[in-house]
Amino acid sequence: KGLSQQARDAFAESARAHLIQPWPVAGEIGAESRGGIVSGNGIYVTDIEGRRQIDGPAGMWCTNVGHGCEPIARTLYEQAMALSYNSPWYTANDPSVRLSERLANHAPGDLNHVFYTTGGSSAVETALRFMQFANNVLGRADKKMIVARQGAYHGSTYLSASLNGRPRDHDWMDSAGELVIKLTCPNPFRRPAGVSVEAFCDMLVDEFRNTIETYGAERIGAFIAEPIMASGGVIVPPEGYLDRMRALCTEHDILFIADEVVTAFGRLGHVFASKEVFGIEPDIITFAKGVTSGYFPLGGAMISSRLLERLRQSNHADAMFAHGLTYSSHPIGCAVAETNLDLLEGGILAQARANAPYFQAQLKSLEDLPLVGEVRGLGLMACVECVADRESNNPLALDLEVGKRIDAHCQQLGLLVRPLIHMCVMSPPLTISRPQIDDLVSILRQGISLTQ
Ligand code: PLP
Repeated sequence: KGLSQQARDAFAESARAHLIQPWPVAGEIGAESRGGIVSGNGIYVTDIEGRRQIDGPAGMWCTNVGHGCEPIARTLYEQAMALSYNSPWYTANDPSVRLSERLANHAPGDLNHVFYTTGGSSAVETALRFMQFANNVLGRADKKMIVARQGAYHGSTYLSASLNGRPRDHDWMDSAGELVIKLTCPNPFRRPAGVSVEAFCDMLVDEFRNTIETYGAERIGAFIAEPIMASGGVIVPPEGYLDRMRALCTEHDILFIADEVVTAFGRLGHVFASKEVFGIEPDIITFAKGVTSGYFPLGGAMISSRLLERLRQSNHADAMFAHGLTYSSHPIGCAVAETNLDLLEGGILAQARANAPYFQAQLKSLEDLPLVGEVRGLGLMACVECVADRESNNPLALDLEVGKRIDAHCQQLGLLVRPLIHMCVMSPPLTISRPQIDDLVSILRQGISLTQ
């Protein structure tokens, strides 16, 4: 049941008067109200008007175990009563120590150490600041440039946002652009005409090799990549791409940072995807979101033992990594992450792996709609990309915001969509069943059909 009309009006008025939400346009800052959500249960949320919606994007790729999860709610309460906070500067708490060991056991290679943050941006920021610090300590202060990709999303703090690859997100924002080099987005759907996917992959790797030659390996500190670019439109790179980029990083002593803020904690069926899905061992993995299924803001950077050993052996082993957050290693966040991991290991990862091919195949059937250029994805993340026409596959004009129009239709029918200009992203809670996948796809089909 929704709120009364009077309560809805009051909600909207109060939101407009006082709440600033992410990505507003200048004229609407402090003057807009977005759709109200009042409750959630399993894969569903209920909006202010009382309509139940499938949470198609799992919030922001995060509600992996679903809404209203009792074991997590209990953990939140119990850990708050046991120990609500301790200073990570002077002390350590049990949940963070236990969680670190479990994450190290899941992480590939020698990624045995965790620095906890409050989310994904701060995890990426931590990884980058650590790279800068490490290179200062190792006596190579010029090796600080960061190679990122067009289409990527890495966060909203100054340095992490500087890596973001959507040009229009930089139009009005300052950035540390002088530190960043952006490579071509590894999107096979948008590869040059007449070029095979294999040849496209060669081009991408050559571009990185040439970039290293142009700038010099002695100036490049890190390459950062989401194994599957998420907000850029669920870009699954060509086979072998990540492997070969990793090999170039190893050859030139460039840190490979895998930004697994979206791909970890079950989205691709495993706790981390770098090794299990793509066969690579990064030097640093950043994570957030699904680590607590969104029940508590937590993120982190997993750092390799080898890298730490180099610092220990350096001439500046006493140099201070002057970086830390009041809420690093938060006991409630870490306790929630432990329970979340119990649930994932206890069956949800297996369920996600089992249902992923069905999810992808059902969504793929939408390619028969004239507006749909491609449906792509892996695991339980997918993107429906709309095109101006199927002959050319040209993208629709940016100002058409077709994703928003599809979202509006789908909401009437009971599905929240994540509109991304001309794309719709689907990444539901991992607990979604096959009949629920059928519902999701059927509503999306209707929503897209109504938009044509
Ligand atoms: N990295 C990736 C790949 C993301 O998708 C996001 C957020 O969507 C971030 C980093 C930033 O995370 P947060 O919003 O928790 O700061």
